[in-house]
Amino acid sequence: MKTSELLSIINQHVPFASAESWDNVGLLIGDTNQEVNGILTALDCTFDVVDEAIEKNINTIIAHHPLIFKGVKNINEGGYGTIIRRLIQNNIQLIALHTNLDVYQYGVNAMLSKRIGIKNAEILEPQTESYYKVQVFIPEENVVEFKDKMNDQGFASEGDYEYCFFSTKGDGQFKPVDGANPHIGQLNEIETVEEVKVEFMIQNNERAKAEYFINALHPYETPVYDFIPLTKSLNRGLGMIGDLPEQTTLKALASAIKTQLDIPSVRFTGNPNALISKAAVIGGSGIGYEQYAHQKGADVFITGDIKHHDALDAEIDGYHLIDINHYSEYVMRDGLKALLEQWLEGKVDNIEASHLNTDPFNYV
Ligand SMILES: [Zn+2]
Repeated sequence: MKTSELLSIINQHVPFASAESWDNVGLLIGDTNQEVNGILTALDCTFDVVDEAIEKNINTIIAHHPLIFKGVKNINEGGYGTIIRRLIQNNIQLIALHTNLDVYQYGVNAMLSKRIGIKNAEILEPQTESYYKVQVFIPEENVVEFKDKMNDQGFASEGDYEYCFFSTKGDGQFKPVDGANPHIGQLNEIETVEEVKVEFMIQNNERAKAEYFINALHPYETPVYDFIPLTKSLNRGLGMIGDLPEQTTLKALASAIKTQLDIPSVRFTGNPNALISKAAVIGGSGIGYEQYAHQKGADVFITGDIKHHDALDAEIDGYHLIDINHYSEYVMRDGLKALLEQWLEGKVDNIEASHLNTDPFNYV
C-alpha cells in the first residue's frame, strides 16, 4: 500500500482536520508515493524508536506526539535534528496522530477508560458541528431540475448519501408592482402559484456557493430562500466519562489504576475515603476540565501533568483528581495497532507496537 492510501484510510477514521489548530498531525516526514512495508506505533518518536524500526525493517512510524511541533530552525546533528536525520537517512517515514486520535470515539481516552475499567463510557465533551438548513420556495415545474443541479454541485449530501432533499407543497403569493419583471403573473395583480418548499443541508463553508446557485437556478427575479443556522453533536470529542464497575474509595481507585496502567506512580487529591462511582478521563494534560467533569457527574477527574497549584485549587474546590502521568498515554501503542489492523484489513502485513519505554522520567 502506498503512503497516500494509508493516509487516506487513516483520515476516514481520525480526520486530520479534527486535530486542534495548534497541533501538527499527518505525514511529518516521508513521501506519499512510498510503499508502506510495515508500521510501528509509538507514543514518542525517540532515537531508540527509530532504531527499533530499522531493526524490524519497518519503514513507517506512527507516533502520538508530533516530533516536529514548534518552528524547526535547522535539522543538524544534536537534539531532535539527530532523530530527524536518522529517519531520513534510513528512509523511514513518520506520521503523527495526536489530538485527532484523542478526540476519536475509540481513541486514546477510550483506550485509557477501557484499561481503567470504566463502563458505559461516553465522550466527556462532544464536539459540535455548525451547518445550515436551506429552504428554497420554487415553482413545482422547476423542482426536479433545481434538485438535480444542486445535487450535481455537491449540495444536499450527508455521509454516504447524496440527493438528500425534503419537499412540501404550498401556495405562494405575490403581487408584482411597478418596476418588476415577473417570471409569472401580471403587474399589480396578486398571483397565486403552487410552490414547493425544498429543504436540504449544507456545510457552513458552502453558504456563498449555495446562494450563488440558488439565484442562478431559480426562475424568479427575486428567489425566496432561507439559511437556518443549526449545530449537531458529533461522535467525537475530548475525554470520556463513565461508571466504575463498583463504587470504591478514592484511594483504592488510585491504587487499582496504578496496577491497571502498570505505571510507577499515581497521585491524587481529596479525601482518600471519598466514595467514587463515576470517573472522567483525559489522557496527557487535561487539567482545566475538572470542573466540567464534576458538573457532568464525575466524582473524580483522571488526567496527567497536574501541577501543584492546579492540585491545590482542586482540593480547595472539592474536586478529586488522580494524576496518572502523561506517559500513561502509552496505552495508545497497542490500541492504535489494533485499530490499524481493523482499518487496513490486511493491506499492511507488519503492524507492530513499540514496547520501548519513552517516559522521560525515572522513578525511585
Ligand atoms: Zn500526550
